[in-house]
Parts: sequence; C-alpha cells; structure tokens
Amino acid sequence: EAKQGGRARVQVFEEGLRERSADRVRLEQDLRRALAREDEIEVHLQPLIALEGDRLWGAEALVRWRHPERGMLAPGRFLAIAEESGLIVPLGHRVLAEACAAAAAVPDLIVSVNLSARQLHDPLLLATVRDALTAHGLAPDRLCLEVVEDVLVDDRTIGVLEALRALGARVAIDDFGVGASSLKQLRRIPGALVKIDRSFIGSLDTAEAGDDDRVMVRALVNVAEQLGLQVVAEGIERPDQLSAVRDLGVTIGQGWLLGHPQRAAAFVTSCGGGPLVRRGTRPARRSAA
Ligand code: C2E
Ligand code: MG
Ligand code: MG
Ligand code: MG
Repeated sequence: EAKQGGRARVQVFEEGLRERSADRVRLEQDLRRALAREDEIEVHLQPLIALEGDRLWGAEALVRWRHPERGMLAPGRFLAIAEESGLIVPLGHRVLAEACAAAAAVPDLIVSVNLSARQLHDPLLLATVRDALTAHGLAPDRLCLEVVEDVLVDDRTIGVLEALRALGARVAIDDFGVGASSLKQLRRIPGALVKIDRSFIGSLDTAEAGDDDRVMVRALVNVAEQLGLQVVAEGIERPDQLSAVRDLGVTIGQGWLLGHPQRAAAFVTSCGGGPLVRRGTRPARRSAA
C-alpha cells in the first residue's frame, strides 16, 4: 500500500512536470508570436536620478509583455523562456531600439539596457548596438549596457564589455554584491557604473540590519571612488533610505521613491520630449532557435 501511495505521488509529480512544461511550450509559442507584432512587447523606463542636484540622469529600460490572456507579465515570468529558446536576441533588439528612440527624443537622456549572458555571447551584439546608435543618431555615451557581475568571471564576456567600452558606450554592473564576482573584478572594467543590489538598500533605514548594510555600501563606495567608478543605489523606496545612500556618497539613485517604471512614450512625454520614433527594428537576422 505504501508502494502504491508512492506510485501515485510520482504520477502526480510527473503530471505536474508535464503541465508545467506544456505551459512553457505555450508561453514560448506566444512569445514568438508576440515578437512578430507591435503591441504586446512594451519597454518601460524608470528614472535614474543624479543625487547631487536631484536631476534626471538617465532611465533604465525594463521589458514588459502585455499578454492577451495572461495580462501584463513582468520579465521574471518570461525571460528564462526567452533565454532558453534564443528569443532573447530578437527581444533584446526590440528593447534596444525602443530605448535608443527614447534617448533620441529627450536631450541628454542616457538610456540603460539590460543584457543577459546569452545576449553577450551573440556574435552580432556589437554590430546591433552600433546600428541602433547610428539609426537613432545617438552619441555612444548616451547608451549604457547593464550586465550582472557574474559575467565578469568569464574572460570572453569581459572582452565583449571592453569592446562596448571601445565603441564609447557605458557599462553598468547590475545587482552588485550578490553574485559570483569579487571587488577585484571591478578593476577590469574601467569607467563602469556599479549598481548596488537592492538587498543592501532595503534595511538602510532600520536600526537592526542597517549597520551591516551601511558598512557594505560605504566600503563599495570607497572602492568605487578609488577606481573612478560611479555608484548607483537600486530599490530606493523610502525617504530615509535616500538620505542614507546620499550620506554614504552614492551618486545616482533608482527606486519607486524616485520614480516608477512607465511606458517609454509616457516617460518621454513627461520629460518634455517626443515623438518616439523607433528606427531600424528588423526581425532577428538569424534563426532564433
Ligand atoms: P534589474 O535590471 O535589476 O532591474 C531592476 C528591477 O527592480 C526591475 O524589476 C524594477 O522594476 C525593480 N524595481 C525598481 N525600483 C524598485 C523599488 O524601489 N523596489 C523594488 N522592490 N523593485 C524595484 P523588473 O522590471 O521586474 O525586472 C527584473 C529583471 O529582469 C531586471 O532586474 C533585469 O535583470 C531583467 N530585465 C528587465 N528587462 C530586461 C531586458 O530588456 N533584457 C534583459 N536581458 N533583462 C531584462
Ligand atoms: Mg538592470
Ligand atoms: Mg539591478
Ligand atoms: Mg535587481
């Protein structure tokens, strides 16, 4: 009987797996279809604020998917599928083009675009970035490319980041402090921005956990200053977190307190810019699979 119970559990488990993978297959098909359309994949922009002078410094592009049945999906729901299927490459082209269009519509705005490991390995990445800049008439330093620190442990991806820097684009190390890199790796990307992970900012305004995180942020700011890097604090939600990061010497802030992500066109309008003209978006130049 125990055996039978075990078998039943295995069966339920397998059905669960099948159900989940069927759902993934559906979502992948839906994503492929969505990328062939204009109205489902959206780019939202969240302000990056220069803390000295409280001015708009730039904006981070964050992809969203307005799924016809499932509603608005955050990247956490579909990036893994995009990554595994290779659809991240055409998706990335779309985001890059829309971000560049926004930068072209707002004088001096810097746009920051996330790149996954798979995108960094795309042999056409540099050409794609160069084309997007040219098509929108943008100086390369108006574009920043964000990568998580884990890519810094791989010499090949460091080479790609160096090539992006050589092109004149900016590079940011995203979610810094929680990944597989070390402070030492920062030396390999001169001029990068360092985005301190949200988890260090969350408790800055509390007495209990705040001290450890304050020590970490202060150390990071010191290292960054020595290396000539700019420090960005992510996930600022409350006024006391903002004053804490200011006091610790962080130069750029991002978070709900400073501005939520909003659709690119609305963001551009709120900056007094516009219209938003996306240029040179073409379907992926090679099969995505
Ligand atoms: P990320 O690059 O670290 O982006 C910041 C995330 O924090 C975003 O989540 C943003 O909406 C969220 N956020 C901003 N301010 C706050 C705040 O004050 N509090 C909290 N709790 N969260 C805040 P989102 O949009 O869900 O994106 C998640 C991740 O997906 C991004 O993390 C990035 O790694 C990835 N991603 C987003 N768009 C793209 C894209 O176009 N391409 C690629 N390859 N990855 C992307
Ligand atoms: Mg990012
Ligand atoms: Mg981040
Ligand atoms: Mg993050």
